[in-house]
Amino acid sequence: TFSAYVLRNEESFSAKVDKLEVASLPDSDVLIEVHYSSVNYKDGLANKPKSPIVKNYPFVPGIDLSGIVVSSKDSRFKPGDKVIATSYEIGVTHFGGYSQYASIPADWIVPLPSGLSLKEAMVYGTAGFTAALSIHRLETQGLTPDKGKVLVTGASGGVGSIAVSMLHKRGYHVVASTGKDSVHEYLQSIGAQEVISREEVLEDKVKPLDKQQWAAAVDPVGGQMLAAVLSKLSYGGAVAVSGLTGGASLPTSVYPFILRGVSLLGIDSVYCPMALRKELWGRMASDLKPLHLSSQIAKEIALQDLPSALTNILQGKLSGRTVVNIK
Ligand code: NAP
Repeated sequence: TFSAYVLRNEESFSAKVDKLEVASLPDSDVLIEVHYSSVNYKDGLANKPKSPIVKNYPFVPGIDLSGIVVSSKDSRFKPGDKVIATSYEIGVTHFGGYSQYASIPADWIVPLPSGLSLKEAMVYGTAGFTAALSIHRLETQGLTPDKGKVLVTGASGGVGSIAVSMLHKRGYHVVASTGKDSVHEYLQSIGAQEVISREEVLEDKVKPLDKQQWAAAVDPVGGQMLAAVLSKLSYGGAVAVSGLTGGASLPTSVYPFILRGVSLLGIDSVYCPMALRKELWGRMASDLKPLHLSSQIAKEIALQDLPSALTNILQGKLSGRTVVNIK
């Protein structure tokens, strides 16, 4: 038997560390000894009774994992290989990473690139991958450091803090927007040149068009923030939107698009094609890799600490990334 964080919905909802057997895992191609997982906003949603994420119980959540292959029915992997598995159905309909062992389809697995440790891969996790995908999309659209300042919203969160540090590494002038007064120094230490409050972005009322301030933005917040960002992007600017912590509705107008040629780029990490996924993990181990990835951005917890971390992330109380040490 081994330990896993198990959600049950029998007489009532429960979430706790429990014992499982390998036979209770899904019968997939690759059995992985999990070393690290992480805490994402989606994991917080999975941990709730009447979850919008999890539909079948008992269930092991955790949308991210890194570890070592124990056995494989697929020739692409062999025992001893270091691997990363995130996205697809992991931690949603397929047992996930909050578990000492995981059984995962080979098509969902990325070999750990050289230049990254198993822990660093989970300091990134889905949040870091989403930050990398956002920067990739903005740069494919033509963004370069000489075009102007880049805004990151929700900057103290997982996607936000990794985006700040990656953009800094790439030579951008990063403006970090946050709702937390306590994180200004932290955001500067990971690469923000300017730190502004959420209110400074939102102001009293979002105007159809406002003063042009940023060449681009990485936005994991959505809602009113995204509407405000669209109205303040420079001519030809772009925003990569990945999240909805600020709300799912988008109260905007066509003016930023038709009068300033602004672009709204949608970011989905879950079904990002495997070729691009591998390319980006390679870049996350090299040119996008921040200097102090583990020491500055991540806090480490154990399986037993998940209940409070998963509650806190939904309340916007976590800063940076939280890595779960499974071993
Ligand atoms: P996180 O660590 O909780 O970060 C979210 C940040 O949003 C918070 O730290 C906070 O930052 C800000 N925020 C929270 N509530 C807010 C509010 N009411 N109004 C404005 N800002 C608010 O979560 P995460 O794991 O980085 O995920 C962020 C979002 O991206 C989530 O919606 C998640 O579902 C989404 N996501 C999407 C994908 C994809 O593939 N599209 C992948 C990963 C994540 P400040 O306090 O610094 O402002």
